[in-house]
Amino acid sequence: MKKNYISILCFTAVAALTGCKHDKESASVITGDEIKSHIAVLADDSLMGRKPFTAGETKAIAYISSQFKKEGLEPGNNGSYFQEVPMVEVTSTPSATMTITGGKTNISVNYLTDFVASTRQEVPEVQLTNSPLVFAGYGVVAPEYHWNDYAGLDVKGKTVVVLVNDPGYKSGIRGFFKDDTMTYYGRWTYKYEEAARQGAAGIIIVHQTEPASYGWSVVANSFTGAKLYLQQQDKHMSRCKVEGWITEDAAKKMFAAAGITGDFRALARKKDFKAIPLNLTATLSVKTKLKYSTSHNVIAVLKGSTSPGECILYTAHWDHLGIGKPDAKGDSIYNGAVDNASGVAAVLNVAKAFVQLKDKPKRSVVFLAVTGEEQGLLGSEYYATHPIFPLNKTVADLNMDALGDYGETNDFAITGKGQNDLEDYVAEFAKADGKKISGDKNPGAGGYYRSDHFNFAKVGVPALDMNNGAESTAHGEAYGKAKQKEYGEKHYHQPSDSYSPAMDANGMAEVANLLFKVGNKLANESTFPGWKNGSEFKAVRDKSMLVK
Ligand SMILES: [Zn+2]
Repeated sequence: MKKNYISILCFTAVAALTGCKHDKESASVITGDEIKSHIAVLADDSLMGRKPFTAGETKAIAYISSQFKKEGLEPGNNGSYFQEVPMVEVTSTPSATMTITGGKTNISVNYLTDFVASTRQEVPEVQLTNSPLVFAGYGVVAPEYHWNDYAGLDVKGKTVVVLVNDPGYKSGIRGFFKDDTMTYYGRWTYKYEEAARQGAAGIIIVHQTEPASYGWSVVANSFTGAKLYLQQQDKHMSRCKVEGWITEDAAKKMFAAAGITGDFRALARKKDFKAIPLNLTATLSVKTKLKYSTSHNVIAVLKGSTSPGECILYTAHWDHLGIGKPDAKGDSIYNGAVDNASGVAAVLNVAKAFVQLKDKPKRSVVFLAVTGEEQGLLGSEYYATHPIFPLNKTVADLNMDALGDYGETNDFAITGKGQNDLEDYVAEFAKADGKKISGDKNPGAGGYYRSDHFNFAKVGVPALDMNNGAESTAHGEAYGKAKQKEYGEKHYHQPSDSYSPAMDANGMAEVANLLFKVGNKLANESTFPGWKNGSEFKAVRDKSMLVK
């Protein structure tokens, strides 16, 4: 406390006269106004919603890199501020119906109303022809939970039908997986990956609103049209031919034809559950259109003074949705002021705060603005699989995405709370400021797997995503909750997520200041924080740390 007091004195009284900079790290140096000035530029209509491959990308990455340069940060990629991210756009057009045969009567289900299907295989067309259907429960192989839905199963040439979320979700059994908090095994992305690892020809996820946390319309909108993926050497031929979803109603008909009735979630979460061949086959085809393009991550580094080979990483995605369907007011530019000009603005200010430190951090600090988050966390996936700074020397990833624009709060929300030791650092600084820590609003929705930090978690780097909580300092919790709800319902992924001079960025500054302090502490230590016991990311980190 004393140190803080002295630093405030120095800062307010002496700093103006002498330019004294000491102990700035113990003060909150980032202001809401500075964050707002960057948001105003990044969310301007002239950037056209910052969509990858557009003139909006060119402008956005030029602005971010010029700010890094202006602050005196070095280029992060061998003399360049950019990392090229090669992508492929796959537009999948499935056959109008999928036929399921082998039961008493054939079942024909319709595209969009009953099912969606796409492929990432970079070929003109893929086909499933009488592919045997197997109900593989939750489609999970989780050694730390002693769970294997694929045990003793050969799915080559077959199509697996799996449920969304974890076996533990809403099971009422305490300590089964993570109770109602979704683990990565519950995410649809994982289900697709595991089915491919097992060699399945196709995968169909059964949609249910509660465990998915979103309705069928979200599935129908999200899994149709052009999708971007990272280019892969194998042209995605190791992925399933067909990746799809089916409505709960259509799934019930399919299960009934195989003699399975009742609660299939309860069936699949039984301790002795074994995959069930449905004695049915599926037939459908998917035609594709392919387009290859390159987008860019922006990266800058402040070299560490004594351990430059080790680094702290800050991330925020610069991209948003571009120009799309006009809203009721006729606005068609999805500016993404909150999502995620705010996070990039915060990273630019954290970078500036580091540069202004009197004592340079011992470890390097890397600032990475990634592309393609809105298209499936692609820029961060590319960096995590093509790292510039070695991953086992990357101490932490601190991510900011869609920071709250409703002012200061008494609490901070940690996405997917309980994962790693970085939370203890946050708690320490939050406590010093008299703030509380909360988890995310809806842990069953798997928020931890929905922004860029997740790609670092996946490769073992302890990763943290943080935002303001709901407890507004000035107006109380009901106000904060109402503001969060309003954003979610009216502005999230809408043209109205745009910059306004009335925007309150003081809460954003609180998050940025806190993560600056956390990063600065990490950058001056020699230890490596790790994953908590039971985290699905602990094993990969522990293994990678054995490599020198
Ligand atoms: Zn978004």
